[in-house]
Amino acid sequence: MIKIIIATANPHKLEEIRDINKNPNIEFDVVKGDFNPVENGVNFQENALIKAQEAAKIMKTYCLADDSGLCVDALEGRPGIHSARYAKTQKEKIEKLLDEMKNVPYDYRSAHFVCSMVLVDANGNVLNSEIGKIYGFIDDSPKGENGFGYDPIFFIPEKDMTMAQLPNEVKNDISHRANALKPMLKWISSNLL
Ligand code: IMP
Repeated sequence: MIKIIIATANPHKLEEIRDINKNPNIEFDVVKGDFNPVENGVNFQENALIKAQEAAKIMKTYCLADDSGLCVDALEGRPGIHSARYAKTQKEKIEKLLDEMKNVPYDYRSAHFVCSMVLVDANGNVLNSEIGKIYGFIDDSPKGENGFGYDPIFFIPEKDMTMAQLPNEVKNDISHRANALKPMLKWISSNLL
């Protein structure tokens, strides 16, 4: 049995990570106390490492960070690593993105979610890292109530639905987070259990 601390203050991420994990010998909890990492990395991997090492300093055990975001091709990859800070509230973030995309036709609205995961030990040494992605399009209006963040405007053609219209178990099978966490879980069970 191993307990791994998730370096996040976002309760949605912990919930999704717990749902994706089917191994009863791997448990996840969140970082406790004063967790305020300065996310000044230039890409998702650097920010994930900053968060994982900050959590390891506080918790002194295995820590896993998830740095994720939405990259829109027509906006040259924005909001990207700035997804969480693109506007104040989530409603405002979606409105701002739809406004920036208002003159962009469907065929040019391609986008992808990225999730970079980094696992460190109690001393902050990197043990493993993985990247997961999912490809879709920016819808012209929000649809669906599930998930979080930009899910209501992320349309997945294979499912004919937005990410927020998918049942949780489907999102947690195909998402960028699932695509990073599944190989990470395999690595953990081969090397730490
Ligand atoms: P982070 O917590 O600094 O990694 O910021 C991630 C931000 O990207 C979140 O606040 C969301 O706005 C967005 N994001 C990441 N993952 C998802 C997802 O699964 N669905 C929708 N938005 C997401």
